[in-house]
Amino acid sequence: MCGIVGYVGERMAIDVLLDGLKRLEYRGYDSVGVAIASEELKLFKDKGELSKIEAQIPRWKGKMGIGHTRWATCGRPSKNNSHPFVDCTGRIALVHNGIIENHLSLRKQLEDEGHVFTSETDTEVLVHLMERHYNGDAHAALMAALSQVKGTYAVAAMVEGDDRIVVSRKENPLVIGLGVGENMVASDVTALLSLTNRVLYLLEGESAIVTAGGITLFDADGNKVEREPSTVTWTVEDAEKGGFEHYMLKEIYEQPTAIHNSLLGSLDEIYAGAIIPDIEINSVKLVACGSSSHAAMVGKYIIEEMARLPTTVELASEYRYSPGTGESPLTILVTQSGETADTLAAAREARQRGCRTLAVTNLVGSTISREADHVFYTNAGPEISVAATKSYITQLMAMYLLGLRLGTMRQTLDRAEVRSLSNELRSMPRYVSGVLDRASEIEEAVDMLAKADHIFYLGRNINYPTMLEGALKLKEISYIHAEGYAAGELKHGPLALLDANTPVVAACVNDHTREKMLGNISEVAARDSPVLGIGVEGDRELEAITDA
Ligand code: GLU
Repeated sequence: MCGIVGYVGERMAIDVLLDGLKRLEYRGYDSVGVAIASEELKLFKDKGELSKIEAQIPRWKGKMGIGHTRWATCGRPSKNNSHPFVDCTGRIALVHNGIIENHLSLRKQLEDEGHVFTSETDTEVLVHLMERHYNGDAHAALMAALSQVKGTYAVAAMVEGDDRIVVSRKENPLVIGLGVGENMVASDVTALLSLTNRVLYLLEGESAIVTAGGITLFDADGNKVEREPSTVTWTVEDAEKGGFEHYMLKEIYEQPTAIHNSLLGSLDEIYAGAIIPDIEINSVKLVACGSSSHAAMVGKYIIEEMARLPTTVELASEYRYSPGTGESPLTILVTQSGETADTLAAAREARQRGCRTLAVTNLVGSTISREADHVFYTNAGPEISVAATKSYITQLMAMYLLGLRLGTMRQTLDRAEVRSLSNELRSMPRYVSGVLDRASEIEEAVDMLAKADHIFYLGRNINYPTMLEGALKLKEISYIHAEGYAAGELKHGPLALLDANTPVVAACVNDHTREKMLGNISEVAARDSPVLGIGVEGDRELEAITDA
């Protein structure tokens, strides 16, 4: 999910690469690396921030190079796991964004053939595959390597003594910047803008050979294609946010991709028992803070329904005060960063209580991932905005996947149910894109909330924690006071606070809570509260009793 840059031309490649990498910094990363192909291949890589490492990077003279900022998905952040990777001959260098799903079986084959690996990453198989196929043609070797992998990639590679950078992409962006007597590649247009605004976006499955003098472009079947470059009109600053006004909006729009990346490989891993092995589990406890605790609450409903396992949720900051019951539930710790202090403390306490721990986290190599017995990575990619968006939705995906695994283990779900639920999950990126396509309607609908001082969010069942999360988001982002409530609790007090100046957001979907929710909405409407209903498209009954 992170940054790639490559340069070939007349300048010192290292300077262009470092400038490009700095422009990609906003994406967040854990390691940096560069390789320069002059007569002999030079390599520098390390864990940490570019600003701290930069002074140690030698200013080699070569005119072609590739660089990378890594956001670890496979193998913790470390010097050895940083990109670029170099093959056993020391002549081929490669950087990659994305996830190679079948890396374990490929690695085994390559090791049997005598290839020596230096990292724990999925990426490294690519450079050894290139070595296996290299016969003087870097592009042919890359194509042969990619034909053997399952997964997603934006990849750039080069060979010592050669004058070409070869690139390809699948489900990860890659763009070529066209200069005069020099060309660049990058995973994000931001990194190119100081060199040129004439760019060629690589389309799905395409590949290219990039030299100082020009570009040769190939379609997914390997046929040469020609396409006119486009001109970027963004400023560097616009481009850093991908054209969005701010990071939160950008990350909201990244949700379909984040869900896709989160599911990628996990469905297989889940069934293969890689995340929860076949152990006896009698109960589950979910422990988390903030938004993660709302995902954990959703998890409770899911696990109880799919696996019929008694499940409790506790706030990490409160966990230490409960005495423990002598039972040892599977304790699932949910934390985006993997560094949340209260959740880490709870993980240690859980282990002391003899509980097996499972971490659900976005950050490979984070403290929780090292301390927990098992880890599920949500793979949402870096989240710059403080408010959780794509990291939250991928935590929900994790809850469904864990529910599926536990339900399969305990045989509370039959094969047909597992298949249909898995298919529903695979459709999620499409559903979320459908909602995002209607952003302008949503903007109109929220007008009624903008001037309020107090807003109530109501839901039942799984939508109750979702509404708690909605209220939290509103407080964090707009500083409007908001309360999330289980709709059934309304009559036990808060109803008295509702009036024409206190709007209500109510979730009402087609499940067993529907009738009750319709009742609650009528109740608040009778107090003159404007109601914004969240429901299924075309629900006329809901439309009739809500204001937006
Ligand atoms: N899967 C690769 C890794 O973990 C690439 C990660 C990235 O996109 O930065 O090294």
